[in-house]
Amino acid sequence: ALADATDAAPATAATPGADADAVVRRLRATFHSGRTKPLGWRLDQLRALRSLLTEQSETFLAALNADLGKGAAEAHRTEIAFTVNELDHTVEHLEEWLRPKPAAVPDAFLPAEARVVRDPLGVVLIIAPWNYPLQLALAPLVGALAAGNTAVVKPSELAPATSAAIARLLPRYLDPEAVAVVEGAVPETTALLEQRFDHIFYTGNGAVGRIVMAAAAEHLTPVTLELGGKSPVVVEPGVDLAVTAQRIARGKFLNAGQTCVAPDYVLAVGDTAAALEAELAAAVHAAYGDDPAGDPEYGRIVNERHFDRLTALLSEGRVVTGGGHDRSTRYVAPTVLADVPPTAPVMREEIFGPILPVVPVPDLDAAIAFVNERAKPLALYAFTGSERTKQRLAEETSSGALVFGLPVSHLAVPELPFGGVGESGMGRYHGEYSLDTFSHTKAILDKPLG
Ligand code: NAD
Repeated sequence: ALADATDAAPATAATPGADADAVVRRLRATFHSGRTKPLGWRLDQLRALRSLLTEQSETFLAALNADLGKGAAEAHRTEIAFTVNELDHTVEHLEEWLRPKPAAVPDAFLPAEARVVRDPLGVVLIIAPWNYPLQLALAPLVGALAAGNTAVVKPSELAPATSAAIARLLPRYLDPEAVAVVEGAVPETTALLEQRFDHIFYTGNGAVGRIVMAAAAEHLTPVTLELGGKSPVVVEPGVDLAVTAQRIARGKFLNAGQTCVAPDYVLAVGDTAAALEAELAAAVHAAYGDDPAGDPEYGRIVNERHFDRLTALLSEGRVVTGGGHDRSTRYVAPTVLADVPPTAPVMREEIFGPILPVVPVPDLDAAIAFVNERAKPLALYAFTGSERTKQRLAEETSSGALVFGLPVSHLAVPELPFGGVGESGMGRYHGEYSLDTFSHTKAILDKPLG
C-alpha cells in the first residue's frame, strides 16, 4: 500500500503558471454550467468523499506513517474518523442548513417578502499544511462542496506520500471537472495564488498567511487563515493534578506535539508547579513507557529542519522528563521543561513539537496578564475548580477557543466554530460554519408589483 501511495509521478509542472490558469478555467466552466449547485450533486460528492476515506484508509494510513511516523490508531482517529464525522454531520444537516431563512420586513414596505439564502461562491482554493495532511486538506473540502463550489486542493509538499495519495485518489472518487488537486511547493502555490479565486482557505503559519492574504488582495478574494501560535494551559491550585497532567500530556504529545491546538506551555498558578512537573513526568511514563522511541503510536518530527529547530529549543531550562533525541530517525522524546525564562526561544516562538515548558505564576491575575501580553492564541486551556476563574478567563482574555478540562477536544465538536483571532487567524469552519465560510449570504427582497 505504501508503494501504492508513493509511486505516483510527482506533479511538478514545468510551467506552473500555465497549468494553474488551465485548472482554474476548467473549474470555472464547470461552475458556470450549474452542475455543482443542486443539493443532489453536493450530497453525491460528500458521500463519494466518505467512500474515498473508508475504502482507501489503508493507503492513507501507510502514507501518513511514511510522512510523519503516525501510528495507525492515532492516524485513523485524527485524520480519517475525524473527517468522516465531519462528512456525516454535514450530510445529515445540509438540506436544513440550505433552507432559505425568512426575514421580517418593516411595515413601510409591506406587502413584501424577504429571505436570506446561501449562494455558492464559484472556484475556491484550499492550501493545506503537513501536520494533519489528510484532515486539513479534506475537512475544508467538505465545506467547499457542501456549499456548491468547485475547488482546487493544494496539499503540503512536506508530507509527500499523503500529497501523492490525495492527488492520485481524489479524482477517482470526486467529479474531476469540479475538484482538482495541484501538488507542489512554493512555485506551484505562487502560480495558483496569481489566479482569481472566489475564496482562499489557508492553513499553516502566519508568515505564509501574510503572503496568501496579499495575493488575495489583488483580486479582492476573501480569505480564511487558519494559523497557529502558542496555546497556553492555566492550571490552578486545588485541581486533581494527576488527571490534569494526563490530559495535558495526551493533547501535547499527540502527533509528537505537531498540532496547531497542542498545549504550548503551562502556566502553573501559585504553588502547583513542582507537583505538576512530577505528575507530567508520571503521565508521560504511563503513556509511552521507558522508551517512547519504541512505541509505534509515538510520532516523528516531519523533517530535519524542524528537528534541528526543536532540539535547539532544549538548550535553556531544566529537563524534568525526556530531552532525548535522534536525528537519524527524527525522534524527539516527549519532554517537560522547567525553569525557562520568558525570554528563552522556547517561550518566544510556537514550539510545534513535543516540548512542554512549565512556567510558574503567582496568581490568576499574573496568568491572565501573561496571556494578554502575547499574541492572541488559537486556544486557551484551563484546569480549575472555580466558576469565577472560568468566568474571568472568558471575559478577560481573547483566543480562538477557550476550553476547560480537556485540551484539543473542541476540535471534534462539529457544532463549535474552529478558527483563530488576531495572530492565530481569521474566519472559522467545521459543520455549519464551513458552509458559511464557503457561501455568500445573499439578501433577497420581493415586493409585489401593483
Ligand atoms: P507548510 O510548510 O506545509 O505550509 C502550509 C502550506 O503553505 C503548504 O501547502 C505550502 O506549500 C504553502 N506554502 C509554503 N510557503 C509558501 C509560499 N511562500 N507561498 C505560498 N504558499 C506557500 O505548513 P506550516 O506552515 O509549517 O504548518 C505549521 C503551522 O500551521 C503552525 O504554525 C501551525 O500552528 C499551523 N496550523 C494551523 C492549523 C489551524 O487549523 N489553525 C492547523 C494546522 C497547522
